[in-house]
Amino acid sequence: MCTLIVFYRLLEGFHVVAMHNRYARRGSFEEPPRVSKGRFKAYHPVDSSSKGTWVGFNEEGLFAAATDQHTGGPIHAYRSRGLLLLDILTGFSESSEAVDYVERELTKGYRRGNFIIADRKQAFHILKDERVEVTPIDPGVHVFTNLTLKGWVRTENVPEDLLKYVEMRRRRALELASQIEPKVVDRVIEELRRVASDHGEEPGRGSICYHGETGWYMSSSTIMAVAENPGDSRILYCPGNPCEGRFLDYSHILREGGGGAAGALAEVYGPRGRWLKSTRRVGSSPVGGLRSV
Ligand SMILES: [Zn+2]
Repeated sequence: MCTLIVFYRLLEGFHVVAMHNRYARRGSFEEPPRVSKGRFKAYHPVDSSSKGTWVGFNEEGLFAAATDQHTGGPIHAYRSRGLLLLDILTGFSESSEAVDYVERELTKGYRRGNFIIADRKQAFHILKDERVEVTPIDPGVHVFTNLTLKGWVRTENVPEDLLKYVEMRRRRALELASQIEPKVVDRVIEELRRVASDHGEEPGRGSICYHGETGWYMSSSTIMAVAENPGDSRILYCPGNPCEGRFLDYSHILREGGGGAAGALAEVYGPRGRWLKSTRRVGSSPVGGLRSV
């Protein structure tokens, strides 16, 4: 389950700015953004069990993200969708080529989901449900959830409350994101931090900052701004609920190649998007994340 907001080709110099609030099953764990190396270097957080990811971009400026599609379907998959996303990020520079690859791969038996793939020129949404459908994405604000409804998508097995809460989050995310003026990237990122910790009417299963009772929890929020010059891109990551935690700036991994140079500066953001302090990083975890700020 997830809420993903994508600003596609709205900001000058940044073809993608995205916020991905991830709701994961209790008992699953993840690691902060790091660098993976294939044909291209990719920057992304990591799901601890599959070693795949749900959002990222690479040194060629290709962005990719995934959300669930909760309409049922097989639970046991031939391979994790997170690893498929990692294939895209480490192996492709053009979104159209990545889409061809994903379409071929999805015939092999992955779980249902939504995949968003974007480069500087073109972006696509791939819906994997009972069949696979590819839709081009126009420049604009787009919201994806754990349920994409199309005429052919069957929802008779989707619980009523799930439909209700997904629609609440989708509507609220679109409303808030549409109010953001897509001009200055720092300002957009600041606004997206607020959206990430939004509760709408109240914290719960229907809020963007997700507070589930059973089974699921909010594992993280990731904000990425992908620049025309990839080195100028931005990566912010907040473990857990953004209303309680803080966003850390991981943009330094773009320059450090993954391990992290000692003494890199990290900006620390509070629950309401308030800038708290700029501090010297004193250590890094084995995956290159921030351990102490
Ligand atoms: Zn919250």
